[in-house]
Amino acid sequence: MRMKKLTTLIAFIAVACGSYAQDVNKMIHQDDVGRIIKTLSADDMQGRATFTPGIEKAAQFIESEYKQIGLQPMEGNTGYRQNFTMVKSTPTKAEIIINGTAVPTENVAIQGSESFSWNKLEDAQIVKVTPDSNFRNTYKSIMQSGKNTVLLVDPKFSDMFKRLQGFVARGSVSFKDSQTKKNALAFVLGTFGDVKSFTVNYEASSKELPLFNVAGIIPGKTKPNEYVVFSGHYDHLGIVTPVKGDSIANGADDDASGTTAVISLARYYKKLNNNARTLIFVAFTAEEIGEFGSQYFAKTVDPDKVVAMFNIEMIGKASKFGQNSAFITGYERSDFGKILQKNLEGTAFKFYPDPYPDQNLFYRSDNASLAEVGVPAHTISTDQIDIDKLYHTVGDEFSTLDVGNITSTIRAIALSSRTIVAGKDTPTRVAKLER
Ligand SMILES: [Zn+2]
Repeated sequence: MRMKKLTTLIAFIAVACGSYAQDVNKMIHQDDVGRIIKTLSADDMQGRATFTPGIEKAAQFIESEYKQIGLQPMEGNTGYRQNFTMVKSTPTKAEIIINGTAVPTENVAIQGSESFSWNKLEDAQIVKVTPDSNFRNTYKSIMQSGKNTVLLVDPKFSDMFKRLQGFVARGSVSFKDSQTKKNALAFVLGTFGDVKSFTVNYEASSKELPLFNVAGIIPGKTKPNEYVVFSGHYDHLGIVTPVKGDSIANGADDDASGTTAVISLARYYKKLNNNARTLIFVAFTAEEIGEFGSQYFAKTVDPDKVVAMFNIEMIGKASKFGQNSAFITGYERSDFGKILQKNLEGTAFKFYPDPYPDQNLFYRSDNASLAEVGVPAHTISTDQIDIDKLYHTVGDEFSTLDVGNITSTIRAIALSSRTIVAGKDTPTRVAKLER
């Protein structure tokens, strides 16, 4: 009896999966996937760098797709744009005098966000980075302490110092309404005896920069206050150093592919129009320069209402497990991955745990912004990050993508998300992160 029951059950599951699979095959078309990704990664989008006309063009295209699909704006927004302001601060003067002698410019690096002047111990502490100390750890603990600091860096660390100098020269970007003021750090390369007096003068000019995510929703039919987020980032690197005459980093895989998945899933779920939970489809800005779009988004939603986040990043080529497979970052941090795998049983597609734990991918995409506040927020990817020679190069173009495999991956996300969308499965929460 048991045996029979089991086979009936298996037959039923197979039929159920079969019909869902037929639905996704009918409703998510390869030619439409190709059209979207080709448009987003075309040369006229200029590599979609944050703060450029190219990304504006990409945003307009995403908006037109959302409109055509029939998504609604998020609560509090009049359109699909979720606007916020960043402040970019660029150093204009960095001067350090120790014991009455000005330090040569090439040995000075100051990390700050606004102008300041220090000349006594109440203004800043002095820390020596001696040859036997760990520069990285010292830096980290000073940042965490919140204290303004003058660091006297031993010449042993001159390579690290140079990198830091290049980094601070580019300036910093922060949220306009940020309440947390970061401490300033003045680095001086050289060997010094006792510091009897010091002066640090830093001036910076700041500029407000408007940014926006592109977000739309399909309200939940029975559980509207529970949200499921589908996301990808629509920004990329823009124009970079030319290689063989090509200077556009098209970002076809990174992350026009994920943005395409978001649009395709929106179209699919809107056609079904039977979602119990509210579905939020969001294309994030400024991922490449610090995940600012998703950090802002995380502040606009109550994290306790977000039951899951499907972040989709680089699904343009077959994964290391071959066709019809993808991996999930932070797999062990919640049962999100297990739910997805269960929903794919009986199909040709398989999800695997992230095979590149050393790459820290869980922290390297927009899911981290939501995971920080406890949301089971994971990234689905197929990228062979350890050997991907096109990653962050001008070679990441449409012609290198496997559109068939992208389409299968999007279909698999549609199939595997269905019980979460229907309110039948709720992934366990992740432990809140410290980044
Ligand atoms: Zn990237």
